[in-house]
Amino acid sequence: MLKQQDKRGNLIILSGPSGVGKGTILSALMDNYDDIHYSISATTREARVGEEDGEDYYFISEDKFESLVEKDDFLEWAQVHNNYYGTPKKYVEENLNQGEDVILEIDIQGAQQIKEKFPQGVFIFLLPPSLEELKSRIHHRGTETEDAIQTRMKNAKKEMNKVEDYDYAVVNDEIEEAINKLEAIIIAERCKVKS
Ligand code: 5GP
Repeated sequence: MLKQQDKRGNLIILSGPSGVGKGTILSALMDNYDDIHYSISATTREARVGEEDGEDYYFISEDKFESLVEKDDFLEWAQVHNNYYGTPKKYVEENLNQGEDVILEIDIQGAQQIKEKFPQGVFIFLLPPSLEELKSRIHHRGTETEDAIQTRMKNAKKEMNKVEDYDYAVVNDEIEEAINKLEAIIIAERCKVKS
């Protein structure tokens, strides 16, 4: 009989286009569950107003990013919207080994790399109700230039074609409902009987 403490934690991968509301949903989830650990990514992109180093991301230079790639310190990394993003390996592995769940908020290229290493991961894709709604949300956020919005919209269309590679799709129409669905998925995964 499998004892609960012998289980490795679940690796949960959340992807979805820029502006779909991943940040809001994740912070609600983090407030409700202190046993799900959010993996803070490293990025070469500039911090937005209000973002904190070591909280939202580790904001690092391209040189530093390259040296971490060379040292094989990332579980996965990718170039997204002209910047580099990567998941530090150590934090994820330590928590999973202790039986704790870890959530990654990464793009589809990163999710593909994770699938090769962790096929047992829980892959969740967050969808906007429509592309028009997505564009309007990014506009309202007011953090991107018009050029950056265009790039993000182009990527969103490409990304949304990959939803079939995921285990679950959640439409973020009503935020509360989307959070409930995400929680239901995580609870179900925790109850799964696996070796
Ligand atoms: P943003 O710049 O809006 O915070 O994020 C842009 C995109 O990068 C999002 O799709 C987000 O999921 C993705 N992203 C954030 N961190 C990582 C990471 O560590 N790895 C990969 N592959 N993508 C990431």
